[in-house]
Amino acid sequence: MENQQTAIVTGGAGFLGSHLCDRLLEDGFRVICIDSLLTGSLDNIAHLVDRPDFQFIQHDIIQPLHLPGRVDRIYNLACPASPAKYTLDPVHTFNTSVIGGQNMLNMALDKGARILQASTSEVYGDPSVRTQSEDYRGNVNTVGPRSCYDEGKRAAETLFHDFRQRYGLITKIVRIFNTYGPRMSADDGRVVSNFIVQALRGEDITIYGDGEQTRSFCYVEDLIRGMCRMMDTPDEIAGPVNLGNPEEYTVNELAQMILRKTGSSSKLTYRDRPIDDPYHRRPDITLARELLNCRPRVDISEGLDLTIAYFRDLLLGPGQLRVVAGG
Ligand code: UDP
Repeated sequence: MENQQTAIVTGGAGFLGSHLCDRLLEDGFRVICIDSLLTGSLDNIAHLVDRPDFQFIQHDIIQPLHLPGRVDRIYNLACPASPAKYTLDPVHTFNTSVIGGQNMLNMALDKGARILQASTSEVYGDPSVRTQSEDYRGNVNTVGPRSCYDEGKRAAETLFHDFRQRYGLITKIVRIFNTYGPRMSADDGRVVSNFIVQALRGEDITIYGDGEQTRSFCYVEDLIRGMCRMMDTPDEIAGPVNLGNPEEYTVNELAQMILRKTGSSSKLTYRDRPIDDPYHRRPDITLARELLNCRPRVDISEGLDLTIAYFRDLLLGPGQLRVVAGG
């Protein structure tokens, strides 16, 4: 189809990226998925690889990439996002955001494409305000274990802003708050996936600290809708715009909900809280409501049901033996 638009999704084999690929294909785009497979997985895009309108390229965006042909939209999601993964090689994590971000900005310039940066609530660090709006400038440690991710994402926001100022590129920034749903990795240490997998296996539920720290959990479908709407906004809208679900829960409450829903008899165990682990995180989504007409539709109860069903299938399916043995 000559008029078919092409969208690139970096990090397209990851949890969020693969859902975004699904959505863009549904919306009629030809999709090029770029992923290093460092934390992404081919399992997440296995259902797409035979489609003629889908192309997968294994590539680390830290290295420049030259693609032939038309590109209309670039969604830059590539970066390990779980603390357990992004702290493994902090230099690489930082460079993925900064050098990788710059490579994709250069591609956008070259192709005349608009480009969206998947930024993060981590730019607020360990916030000193209970609810974070976009004008809150954050409380980030530059030299802690999380800094590679937080500061890399902050620097990437600056680069996106500066490419817009300097070259007139159409850039968009969204700040993604904790998101969960099917295709989360079973072993990347996020709280929702950890607790569900532990509950389903009858293992102890690992609570870090006293469990009274809070997070606000957004179901993946709601998040993806927000990202697509942000990309569709008029050229002059750059963001950053918070995307997430403002319903806030303590980690203890989350554990109880998951125990109830899975019917598990797992016990709670308390471990040390990680350094610089934010105590409160909750998005102010006024801007997303106003600019994108976007509000979450899936509440935590429904979202957890869908996510638990996914992990039940995963753990009882053919991959299960391997997962259990590794666990
Ligand atoms: N957490 C926990 N047990 C786990 C994994 C995480 O208590 O097995 C806590 C973690 O310390 C943090 C919250 O849950 O306070 C969310 O952690 P996650 O890694 O999912 O996301 P992030 O810290 O990036 O918000």
